[in-house]
Amino acid sequence: MSVVEEKGTISINTENIFPIIKKFLYSDHEIFLRELVANAVDATQKLKRLASLGEYAGELGDTSIEVSFDKKKKTLTVKDRGIGMTAEEIKKYINQIAFSGATEFVEKFKGKEDVQDIIGKFGLGFYSSFMVSQKVEIQSLSFQDGSEPAGWDCDGSTEFRIFEAKKKDRGTEIILHIADDSEEFLDESRIKGILDKYCKFMPVTIKFGQEEKSVPDGKDKDGEDKFKTVKTDRIINNPNPLWVQAPSDLKDEDYLSFYKELYPFSEDPLFWIHLNVDYPFNLTGILYFPKVKNDFELNRNKIQLYSRQVFITDEVKDVVPEFLMLLHGVIDSPDIPLNVSRSYLQSDSNVKKINSHITKKVADKLSELYKKDRESYEKKWDDIGLFVKYGSISEEKFYDKAKDFVLFKNTDGKYFNITEYSEKVKETQTDKDGNVIFLYATDTGKQDSYIQGALDKGFDVLLMNGMLDSHFINHLEQKLEKTQIKRVDADTTDKLIDKGLEIESVLTDAEKEEIKKLFEECSSNKGAMVQVESLSPEDLPAVITQSEFMRRYKEMAKSGGGGMPMFGDMPDSINLVINANHNLISGILKKKKEESKKKVAKQIWDLALLSQGMLSGKDLTEFIRRSTGFISEK
Ligand code: ADP
Ligand code: MG
Repeated sequence: MSVVEEKGTISINTENIFPIIKKFLYSDHEIFLRELVANAVDATQKLKRLASLGEYAGELGDTSIEVSFDKKKKTLTVKDRGIGMTAEEIKKYINQIAFSGATEFVEKFKGKEDVQDIIGKFGLGFYSSFMVSQKVEIQSLSFQDGSEPAGWDCDGSTEFRIFEAKKKDRGTEIILHIADDSEEFLDESRIKGILDKYCKFMPVTIKFGQEEKSVPDGKDKDGEDKFKTVKTDRIINNPNPLWVQAPSDLKDEDYLSFYKELYPFSEDPLFWIHLNVDYPFNLTGILYFPKVKNDFELNRNKIQLYSRQVFITDEVKDVVPEFLMLLHGVIDSPDIPLNVSRSYLQSDSNVKKINSHITKKVADKLSELYKKDRESYEKKWDDIGLFVKYGSISEEKFYDKAKDFVLFKNTDGKYFNITEYSEKVKETQTDKDGNVIFLYATDTGKQDSYIQGALDKGFDVLLMNGMLDSHFINHLEQKLEKTQIKRVDADTTDKLIDKGLEIESVLTDAEKEEIKKLFEECSSNKGAMVQVESLSPEDLPAVITQSEFMRRYKEMAKSGGGGMPMFGDMPDSINLVINANHNLISGILKKKKEESKKKVAKQIWDLALLSQGMLSGKDLTEFIRRSTGFISEK
């Protein structure tokens, strides 16, 4: 029975949907090719499955999919050797089912503002080919015994034609007659670019054009290997990418070379996780830990999302937790709904489950690395620390596990986990109220005098100079009981850890008041507060301190977040703490001339500022002149 020529109208819907498809999808025209090749892959895999079930006894032959174009005829063709379609099937699948899907899409998103956002994640399927075509033609021969080749075409109106085709070999050819405004899709490098982007890991071999290859060609007369260049079919994809293979079959080299395949110019990753879940959702993938360092933005959006090896997007924002966006690699899941809007995606229960599963896997992996080889974990800490801290701050569940493998590094370069560190400093750094005080520095160069001061007292100082550390410190204080965390310059060394020991003052209250006034008068810093305290005589005569609270909130406001924008614009609030018990200070009072008193006070002020790196410009010049003067005094 041959195909009866027939004309008809595609659907009950009277509206012509093609101009609408075209208009709405304008930002992402290129996905039509992904859709057509994905259909060709489906058709091929269906046939292979039937063959393996014994329902197809014929030869499978070469099942490669071929993409080709003809610039003169202005056609682009996708050809497969899959199950093919009979005329009846074309009517059913193309005219009815696929068309109603397309109509539904158009109805749903007509007039919606965020349509642009949806498009890239949405496959319109077969009808997306009308975005770039003035006419689309199907030639198909079903695998079923005794099938007649069937043809279909449609020029973008709702009218279609079914006719007898000439096709002799099994499978389907989709021939696009490219529209005048879409001729970019008749360009070899443009087509190759699209195939590389979307089809790179599709599971059936895809050929496009030819390429030159150098192959061995026997030996020359001196016995040296000879090579010749031959033209071969260019294969676009790797149909068996690493993430679909069994982890037990894979070696480290395989993961590293796959990483290079994904990100050709990147440094090797630190380690990786092979995801393999089939219940309660389906998910495979490989996540790599890159060397993150401090360049946050550069590292984002490197995870690629696939659905059954078809590339969907590299914006995985709603699918993986925010902090995991720093990872690289591939996630493949047929269970992530792609044809819906973003806000819906966030509330999708599969997406939520995927989210927490990945978080758990990542935490488990880190914990395993930590337990298995602490030394190499410590070596990697500088690279993964940012990531672990980011995760700890943003995901409660992650912190629950991470608290066992978060590390502190002290100014000696030694590493401790939280428990170890608390144990280490408990003896020496507990204040009069029973709080353990952790001390930290953010800049070993600038804060050296404070660090030394603390070390001299037998305290330990942590190094917290990462970009997230101020947030992380806040987080820790909320989590750790009876623990406070202070920067070394937050107070004088005596007061940083207030043990409640009163040191007797060598100055009377009146003398202290006089000193305070003098230093206030000599201040070039309007906002500064002057305090006179009774400290150990061997401490410095004066130090600048910055309130931990004010400083930290300002830093957080600066680095974004913390929800305290009002602190961002405030000037540095500094205190000058004067040591009433230092010889130099009592010495000032003994001076006769008001002028000499001021000169010494100024000098002490400047020395304190200098040790905080706060002296500059005219003040610095004046300090240097004054110092030179002091040296030459007899
Ligand atoms: P979907 O792929 O989501 O089913 P499409 O609009 O892409 O939707 O395709 C509609 C239907 O047309 C397919 O389900 C399939 O039955 C049929 N079809 C499309 N392309 C081919 C092809 N190359 N070979 C066989 N059948 C095809
Ligand atoms: Mg499809």
